Amino acid sequence: MINKSRLDSNRQGIGMTSQGTRDRLVSRLRLDGIKDERVLNAITQVPRHEFVDEALASRAYEDSALPIGQSQTISQPWIVARMTEALLDQGNPDKVLEVGTGSGYQAAILSRLIPQVFTVERIDELLRLARRRFHGLRMNNIYVRYADGHLGWPSQAPFDGIMVTAAAQNVPQELLDQLKVGGVLVIPVGSNGCQKLKTYRRVEDGIEESEICDVVFVPMLSGLT
Ligand code: SAH
Repeated sequence: MINKSRLDSNRQGIGMTSQGTRDRLVSRLRLDGIKDERVLNAITQVPRHEFVDEALASRAYEDSALPIGQSQTISQPWIVARMTEALLDQGNPDKVLEVGTGSGYQAAILSRLIPQVFTVERIDELLRLARRRFHGLRMNNIYVRYADGHLGWPSQAPFDGIMVTAAAQNVPQELLDQLKVGGVLVIPVGSNGCQKLKTYRRVEDGIEESEICDVVFVPMLSGLT
């Protein structure tokens, strides 16, 4: 006789993609300095293995970046967590923009924490897959757009926070312009050899800049493909 519960567990990928595996990733992120419990909770909730190719699912809860096709990568969980912490720092944002949807994982994490998440991507094929994942996971508060993120999303601006998940040579002025007062832009800045994760907070009389750490991101490119 076929054991139905065993079949169900197999289908859920008990083992490499189980809740226990996800919890171990969260313990590791905590040891590595991630403190915001809201962020750790979101990482517990979102199935990262659904955002990579099936062949890589067993590696989804390692703390490493993984390829997602089109020469792009899903960021390492620690970076996702650290950038999300920086975006939530000093507040409870209601409306944020992500530039570089990629697999959709970062947007999915944000959607557990923030009422409205807008995300733009310049590679149509990646955006299509991400949209399908959001739909499958019933993440109805994520709004996607096929566009060059250098321009932000003017019709939805201003935002409480903006996160860029590709490295910019220079900080796009349009993104700074689309921040509310008190809002923060989290962005890797620099070229291949040397990239720094930075934050830019809009205050009443200007912008406050600070640096988080060295990072390695794919480049932010112009135009659509
Ligand atoms: N946040 C993603 C990481 C994707 S990697 C995730 O969680 O999986 C960076 C992504 O930024 C790539 O998909 C790349 O195509 C996209 N990107 C690069 N330049 C861009 C631009 N100007 N506008 C929009 N997306 C861009």
